[in-house]
Parts: sequence; structure tokens; C-alpha cells
Amino acid sequence: MAVIGFIGLGNMGGPMAGNLAKAGHTVRAFDLSKESVAKAVERGCVAVASAAEAAAGADVVVTMLPAGQHVRAVYCNDGGVLSVAPKGALMIDCSTVDVDSARAVAKAAEEAGMAMVDAPVSGGTAGAEGGTLTFMVGGPDAAFERARPMLEAMGKTIVHAGGPGNGQAAKICNNMLLGICMIGTSEAFMLAKRLGLDAQKLFDISSKASGQNWSMTSYCPVPGPVPTSPANRGYTPGFAADMMLKDLKLSQEAAARAGASTPLGAAAESLYQLFSNAGLGGVDFSGIIKMLDGDMK
Ligand code: NAD
Repeated sequence: MAVIGFIGLGNMGGPMAGNLAKAGHTVRAFDLSKESVAKAVERGCVAVASAAEAAAGADVVVTMLPAGQHVRAVYCNDGGVLSVAPKGALMIDCSTVDVDSARAVAKAAEEAGMAMVDAPVSGGTAGAEGGTLTFMVGGPDAAFERARPMLEAMGKTIVHAGGPGNGQAAKICNNMLLGICMIGTSEAFMLAKRLGLDAQKLFDISSKASGQNWSMTSYCPVPGPVPTSPANRGYTPGFAADMMLKDLKLSQEAAARAGASTPLGAAAESLYQLFSNAGLGGVDFSGIIKMLDGDMK
């Protein structure tokens, strides 16, 4: 069993750290929020007072932080994880961040004599609690193989997407597609309503026809057809619109740098920005159907 430093114990990191502890690892947990550290202790982790204390002497360091600047700071700042973790330790960053940050930190880790993978996740808080997350992993083969048993304690599907940063590339491509599909699905239900076609009828037909997609069959933006979808609980997240907006921004920044033309991704970003500007960033991302339908109550 490994000694693991776990940094970032929010909605996702807290339960993920708990699953590593449940698997029998010693998990030294740190977050800027004392409340989050206390919850991690309830989940079987050991509280530490800083990121450096979590990393010192650890076999593995796992991070689950908000964005690229937090990941760069936690690993690369003076006294950061890369300056205190033992040589040869394995770094696993599970946060969703820009590809450039992932590659820069991976390079710094290699220079410091450590192995690193980027391993962003899909599956939301339910997947984090249940240990059923999907991990998209970027990094060298040997680092991936070392990370695999750790990731298996937190998830069900572990995919090696290629070299450093490719886990993040997979994540932002997937979420750009998800944002576009959710808007397209919402437009279809809104048009059906205007044409006098019942939402359940559209679902019954389209879910078996060529318009079928995950946003319809697993996360339907209208109440009724999929009982577990946030539409049935007033669009409480789930996956908040501001999180979707963050991922769409990452996709558009990456597209601009890579010279890729992604006009539908750009439109999706703009629509989620409008939704967020209307004060609805905390609503589930499927709630965008309300804006498209002209119903912002
Ligand atoms: P969160 O805001 O709940 O948690 C982030 C945690 O990081 C907070 O507790 C914060 O205090 C802590 N933190 C920030 N800076 C820190 C530092 N310097 N040292 C220690 N702790 C620090 O966010 P979350 O929902 O857990 O998401 C984390 C990451 O996972 C994000 O990149 C997000 O995009 C991604 N993600 C989230 C979901 C989801 O459904 N919530 C799904 C997939 C991926």
C-alpha cells in the first residue's frame, strides 16, 4: 500500500481521496479549506497542514484543483510539490486544465526526476463518490502503468490517451462535443414544443433514430423522459453551467493555438457565457434549454 499526498479536496477530490483511503492507502490530505480537510478525515484520510507536508515522503501525489494556475503553483512554486516530493515519486494531476499547463508541469516533473501523468476525469460527483469515474490519461507508458492501480481505486474506465497533456486534450474535445450536443438537443425539444410535438414522443423517436446522443438519452434537458436527469429536480447540478463554460473556454483557447476551426464550439461557449452572465452559472448545464426557450425564470 502506498503513502499518497492528496491536494484539493473539493466536490470531486474529497470523495476520490476517500476511495483511496478505503482501498487501504495512507492518504495525507490537504486543502486550503479546513472544512474540506475535516470531511476528508471523516472519509479515512490523515490531515496535513500544507501541500508540502502532503508531498514530503509520499510515493504518489494526487491533485484535484480548480484550474491551470492552481496546478502550476502547487507543483512548481518555491517549496511546491516538485521541490519536496522524493525523487522517483509519481505525480497524478486529475484536475481539468489547459493542455499547455499540463505539458509544462509534466516537463518540470521530469526535470525534477519524477514521473507524472495528467488524468482528468469524467463522471461528476456521483462518479467520484461511487468510484466509477472515467480517467483520460496522458503521460509515458511506464508512468501510466504505475498510475493505473491508483486510478482503479477511484474509477472504472482508465484510458491511456497518449503522451503528456493528451488526457487534457481528450477531456476538452469530449466536453466541447458535450456542450454542442446539449445545445442541439435543447433546440430540438424547444422546436418540438413550438410545433405541438410532445417531448416524450420526440424522445421515444429520436432516442432510437439518428438524432440519438448522450445529452438526450442519459441527461435529457426536459423533465420526464429520463427520470435521473437534472431537469426533473429544477436543474440543480449535476454539472454546473460555469464548469461547462470553463471547459468550452479551454477548448477554444486550445483551438486558437492549434489553428483548428471550431465554429460550433465557439457558438456553444458564447451561449454558455450568455447563460452565465444572466446569473445562471450555478444551474445545471442542461438548464440552457430555458434560455433557448425564452424562459429565464
Ligand atoms: P472544487 O472547487 O469543489 O474543489 C477544488 C478544491 O481545490 C477546493 O476545495 C479548493 O479549496 C482547493 N484548492 C484550490 N487551490 C488550492 C491550493 N493551492 N492548495 C490546496 N487546495 C486548493 O472543484 P471540483 O468540482 O472538485 O473540481 C475539481 C476539478 O475537477 C476541476 O478542474 C473541475 O473542472 C474538474 N471536474 C469537475 C467535475 C464536477 O462535476 N465537479 C467533473 C469533472 C471534472
